[in-house]
Amino acid sequence: MQGYGEHYARNLHTWICQYMTDNKLPLHRYGNCSTSVLDDEDIAQSIQLRLLEKASTSYVRTQDVVEIVATPEIQDKLEYGAMRTTITVRTAQRWLRKLDWRYRRKSNGMYVDGHERDDVVEYRSTFVKRWAEYEKRMVTYNNDGNISTTPKGFPIPDGRFRLYLVTHDESTFYANDRRKTKWIHSSEKSAPQRKGEGASLMVSDFLTPDWGPLIHGNQAARLIWKAGTNRDGWFGAEDLLKQVEIAIDLFEAKTNGWAVGLWMFDNAPSHQRRAADALSARRMPKGPKAGWTHRKDGPKMRNGTFPDGSSQALYFPDDHPVMPGWFKGMEHIIREHNLWPANGLKAQCDGFKCPSGQADCCCHRLLFTQPDFIDQKSQLEEYITSRGHLCDYYPKYHCELNFIEQYWGHAKMHYRTSPQTSDINEMEQNVLRCLDNVSLLSIRRYANRSARFISAYAQGLSGAEAVWANRKYHGHRTLPPALAAELKREARK
Ligand SMILES: [Zn+2]
Repeated sequence: MQGYGEHYARNLHTWICQYMTDNKLPLHRYGNCSTSVLDDEDIAQSIQLRLLEKASTSYVRTQDVVEIVATPEIQDKLEYGAMRTTITVRTAQRWLRKLDWRYRRKSNGMYVDGHERDDVVEYRSTFVKRWAEYEKRMVTYNNDGNISTTPKGFPIPDGRFRLYLVTHDESTFYANDRRKTKWIHSSEKSAPQRKGEGASLMVSDFLTPDWGPLIHGNQAARLIWKAGTNRDGWFGAEDLLKQVEIAIDLFEAKTNGWAVGLWMFDNAPSHQRRAADALSARRMPKGPKAGWTHRKDGPKMRNGTFPDGSSQALYFPDDHPVMPGWFKGMEHIIREHNLWPANGLKAQCDGFKCPSGQADCCCHRLLFTQPDFIDQKSQLEEYITSRGHLCDYYPKYHCELNFIEQYWGHAKMHYRTSPQTSDINEMEQNVLRCLDNVSLLSIRRYANRSARFISAYAQGLSGAEAVWANRKYHGHRTLPPALAAELKREARK
């Protein structure tokens, strides 16, 4: 909270509580920010990648941001919106926080981000392996927009070998771009907009390298969310799920059911939300309990699965003589697994801070590490796979892998030059026009750029090296296979 003051802390607390109860993310990530330059995904990403490159040898300082903003690459982008051309150290601090860099007193007052964090890199390395399999089933395009490769291999039994990458993201457009923005609370939905603030529109969209936005006939999968006017100010997991349902209907109609969609999402908590009846060891009581459910007023938890594949009911049968329909409790569930230790087990280690590497220190940890609990998928993934498609998540902090980010950036560049209007419907028309203005060729190039990053990571490159490689080979769809070796040669120069 350093430097943010009590007001900010209090607001943040409110937002977090709101999030915990509704699991809905506010539309704007930061309140009271004096700039929305970073709401432009293209600018934000350019700065982020420069920082990433800089951080390869050390951490970054606020002065680095000031210098990066002063480079011609960033100045060119800023000029489109006629924004300020230099920033102060104070602004740089704010931007670093907004770009997910965190201050570390220990490392000599520098900032670090999560891009190369161990767990993130580990996820990334499994992700790129899955991606290599996906890619075999896709059509790829070169930077002229023509077909570069077609699916390799033999059709699989159900005949649906061809895979279409469908990427998702949300982005917010502001009536007065570059004006002050504020968080919108659901409780504020009927409050009038403060003077000068302007309305905002959130767009949740699906994009493919093959067709551009997912549209079939005259129906689009795109959703426009008018914050604070005629709808709720919050877009949550349930809303996204409903949108995905429609998007899959459109996809299947468009491909006559002959293809599989690879539905890609950012690794955000609202996208990872689990179904109401999903397996979760959190909050489970140790002993039997009548009427227990994981979520308040939610459904009973679904059955678990024993290692031999058979099903495990977590509730006693309704005709149980003493505890009809009661939740069994962790002890009983663990006993049914034959894992209950002779001298018992406490419900949970203090603050769930279990000794590292241990899986049998407490009931919560033990259940947490059972295969059926580990395999519990998000609600989105369960739904998408139930319809015969694939679902995956980009690694955290890797916005360069989601090519829809550049589509937002491109659309916003045009949006800034569209006529100012206080009429929300007119604004919507402007936003739609700007989104539709992004050509299929541009979209294919954006997809190629993200694919180049993925192939750089697949060759074991770090974030900083991947940025270097992407700049060097920006005209190509793929990176040369011996890239890692070349990089070492280059580094020796
Ligand atoms: Zn424990």
